[in-house]
Amino acid sequence: MSSGAWGDRFRQRLNGHDPSQPQHVTVMVDAILANAREAGASDVHLVPQETGLAMQLRIDGVLQPIAELPKETSSNVIARLKVLSELLTYRTDVPQEGRVRSDSAAVSDGNGNGPSHNSVEMRVSTFPTLFGEKAVVRLFVGSGGFRFLGELGLPEDIETAVQRLLDRRNGLLLITGPAGSGKTTTAYAALREIVQASGSTRSISSLEDPIEAVVPGVAQSQINGAAGFDYATGLKSLMRQDPEVIFVGEIRDRNTAETAFQASLTGQLVLTTFHSSSAAGAISRLSDMGIEPYLLRSGVVGIVAQRLLRKLCSCAVDEADGDAGSAARLGLDVRCAKRPVGCERCGGAGYRGRMIVSELLQPDLSGMGRAILSRGDATEIEGLAVQAGMMTLLRRASLAVEAGQTSPAEVRRVLGWGIS
Ligand SMILES: [Zn+2]
Repeated sequence: MSSGAWGDRFRQRLNGHDPSQPQHVTVMVDAILANAREAGASDVHLVPQETGLAMQLRIDGVLQPIAELPKETSSNVIARLKVLSELLTYRTDVPQEGRVRSDSAAVSDGNGNGPSHNSVEMRVSTFPTLFGEKAVVRLFVGSGGFRFLGELGLPEDIETAVQRLLDRRNGLLLITGPAGSGKTTTAYAALREIVQASGSTRSISSLEDPIEAVVPGVAQSQINGAAGFDYATGLKSLMRQDPEVIFVGEIRDRNTAETAFQASLTGQLVLTTFHSSSAAGAISRLSDMGIEPYLLRSGVVGIVAQRLLRKLCSCAVDEADGDAGSAARLGLDVRCAKRPVGCERCGGAGYRGRMIVSELLQPDLSGMGRAILSRGDATEIEGLAVQAGMMTLLRRASLAVEAGQTSPAEVRRVLGWGIS
């Protein structure tokens, strides 16, 4: 089957519908959203072209072309999405953002508690472009089967170590990775784990932007920058409420980082996400941000770095041995590898679903403290961590290649070529 399997299914949904009927736009938007859900997509992109409206779905983290909608319906499709998300339909010249409220829809909080007033099903954003408004629909697929640490597919040693860290009464646990690496899912799983393990006896608060899922047992707060309620000021106020565990959605600036470190040293366990390419890289980035080495040294109890790799579909085949196969391994240190093919089940992509690869750095392991205090670079810190037993992201990914779970090309796509 061609790579247009989801496109074929999308066209089938529109079969028998008369484009001249007034309700056609509604039918088309319903078909777009149903197609996205069926494909398990996280986002729908609708991009105006000179010839029509290009529809793309992000499936397993990769944007795939689905269809080109006729030019004459383009602006009506966008307008319909704007109505659904309560945006101003008459403003097409400024970017807008809105949510499709799910009060009536069957959206639960992921905990079997049924529809919640705060739950959000989709977020729609529009942006004016040369040929009309571009729209991106973000679908919140919910926590699904990833509610607890044990369901994320973390390596057993990392899962056990993280469980132990979550029992701590102080310290900072960082979950790092680039955008789209599943950091938030891991953070939410960790929060649910703390709630469950403590039997709701620990006071748990969060500051988030946005709140992506409701976690019963956590006092969740939405940041509101326009009202002066940003991460740093929110965190300072929250400290007066004597929380025991704080989840800070993301550390983006020095002020937030410093406040989070202070909290971690004064009897709070702080859980947060941070943008960095590796666990060791997070230390040097925080150092570059101006965080004092002694804060890093005493505050950080663990750094999880993670990525999501697409899993090969069962249609994958073995790479050849010998020289041809060796080139196909793309320089990875692996004995064998499989490559994607594409079939009906995977919509022609050759991959189905994703898996997590991760590394865990615990700075209190021997030798690292001095390297952090002397502002050692990421390479030096990673070297020490590996000596102390850390398995790097690349090594974990290479093992997944040897196990036939993913391909060398996917590892290079996600981890890049810079990591050797
Ligand atoms: Zn397949």
